[in-house]
Amino acid sequence: MTMLKKLWPVLATIVACWLLSACATSPTGRSQLMLVSPQSAIVESEKAYISTVNQLQEKQQLVTDPKRLQRIRTITGRLVSEAVKKYPSSKNWQWSVAVIDDPKTLNAWCMAGGRMAIYTGIIDQLQLSDDEIAQIMGHEIAHALANHSAERMSRAMVMQAGLLAAGAATEQDQLTLAGAALAAKLALELPNSRTAETEADRIGIELATLAGYDPQAAVSLWQKMGKASGGGGPEFLSTHPAPGNRAKTLGRLAQQMRALNPTQRKSPVHPVNMVSQR
Ligand SMILES: [Zn+2]
Repeated sequence: MTMLKKLWPVLATIVACWLLSACATSPTGRSQLMLVSPQSAIVESEKAYISTVNQLQEKQQLVTDPKRLQRIRTITGRLVSEAVKKYPSSKNWQWSVAVIDDPKTLNAWCMAGGRMAIYTGIIDQLQLSDDEIAQIMGHEIAHALANHSAERMSRAMVMQAGLLAAGAATEQDQLTLAGAALAAKLALELPNSRTAETEADRIGIELATLAGYDPQAAVSLWQKMGKASGGGGPEFLSTHPAPGNRAKTLGRLAQQMRALNPTQRKSPVHPVNMVSQR
């Protein structure tokens, strides 16, 4: 006990240093707590993505229809053109997208390192226009650019440590992925903070506008999402909690955005790897 008392200040200092060194700054100047570096978030996300894609391929759940794939390739490719201009470090990302054949799921995501997915459920059930798809993918890409993935992974790791201690992590999870890669997968199911949402809304609408898509579609997209939120609601809304005045703020932003690209001139399509059925 006396020993522990003596050690306590040392331990406290170590923890404080670790937390301090884990602080980073987001593109909008907010300080972020990072237990996972953006670089290792990218490495671990790759493992998680490969495992997710393998499972989808086994279940034959990847869209093969060339028309659907082309539509998503064009929209995401234009967004990526703008993303790499604004965030040059993302030039080296392995930009990829999987279109997941799952009519019941209303969801889309982008992992650290530019690995994305969109579900047929959200496209079909909400009858999304190209402009609205651009807004949703722009928002997802923004989360990755602003290192929100690393932030969520940090939280997932803390959670995972708790689960492991409680013996509650499933054997399957432990077999397929270990440590940080599992955290990258779990992170997809964790909600973003409201501050992170506001950041992603702002960066996302700007990317979509610069890429040539109608900024007003951000407002209609969230309205559709809100309408669909009755009866359980889209998975998307459980991971993207709405800042209280999202519609209002986006409406105001849309007005400002117009000036950035008044003619909606479309950006060139940056190469994006389409993940499809083997
Ligand atoms: Zn979000």
